Amino acid sequence: MSTSSVLASLVHDPPRTAVVADFDGSLAPIVADPAAAVALPGVLEVLEDLVGNVGTVAIISGRPVEFLASRLPIGGLILVGNYGLERLVDGLVVLDPSAAPFLPAIAEAADEAERAWPGLHVERKGGIAVTLHWRGDPDQGEAAAAWAEATGVRLGLKVVLGRMARELRPNVPTDKGTVLEGLLRDHDAALFAGDDHGDLAAFDALDRLAAVCALRAAVRVGVASTEGPAEICSRADVVVDGPAGLSALLSELVAALRERD
Ligand SMILES: [Mg+2]
Repeated sequence: MSTSSVLASLVHDPPRTAVVADFDGSLAPIVADPAAAVALPGVLEVLEDLVGNVGTVAIISGRPVEFLASRLPIGGLILVGNYGLERLVDGLVVLDPSAAPFLPAIAEAADEAERAWPGLHVERKGGIAVTLHWRGDPDQGEAAAAWAEATGVRLGLKVVLGRMARELRPNVPTDKGTVLEGLLRDHDAALFAGDDHGDLAAFDALDRLAAVCALRAAVRVGVASTEGPAEICSRADVVVDGPAGLSALLSELVAALRERD
C-alpha cells in the first residue's frame, strides 16, 4: 500500500479514525536502560496534533501505565499499559480484575529472577509483570530465556517474547489485540504501529475486524528494526524505519488531515 493511499484512507472520516501505537521501539528508541527511554523529539507534538484531529489516539504498551503517563503527558491521549491490564482513568491506574489472582506468582517470579540473574536487568512492572532483560549481557540470553520459559510453566504465568527480553505476565487472554478491538468499536478506520512480537496480536485484531467488514480501512504499520520479528514487516501494509520513520508518517497524516479541512 502506498503512503498516499494509506493517508487517504485515514482522512476520509476523521472522527471515526483511530491512530494507535506501541511505545518502545516505535515512538521511543530502544536504549540499554529501559527506565531511560523517552519519545523521540517531535513525537509529543505530533500526538497532540492527532488528538485534536481524529476520534481516538491511543498508546498500547507493555510498560506500566504510570511510566507512559510520565513520558506522554498529553490530555486526551488514551494510555493502556501492561499489554492491556492497566489503564489510566481520570489520572488513576485501574487494574484489570482478571490479573489479580496472578499477582503473588508475579512477585515470586520477580524475587527469583533477581536471585538467579544478578547481572541482568529485572524490571518489575508495577507488580503486574516482570521482565528479564539481557541487552546488557547478550551472552546470557539463551539461558535467561530458558529460565523464563520454565518459570512461567512452574508458576502458571504467560511468557511473552520481547526484544532481548522475556516477560512473565498473568495468564489471561488480554493482549494488545483484544485492547485494540475494544478501542475501535465506534470507528471505521484504524492505524496500528508496532515493532515487536506483542504487536502482532494487534495486527491479528485488524485482520479480524477487516475480515468482517467492521473496518473500512485497516493499516498495519511495521516499525522496522534489526531485532524485531520478521512478521512485523512481512505482515505490514506500510513499513517505516524505526521511531523516526513512524514519527514522519504520523506528521504526514497530520498534514493530510489539515489539508482536508
Ligand atoms: Mg515495542
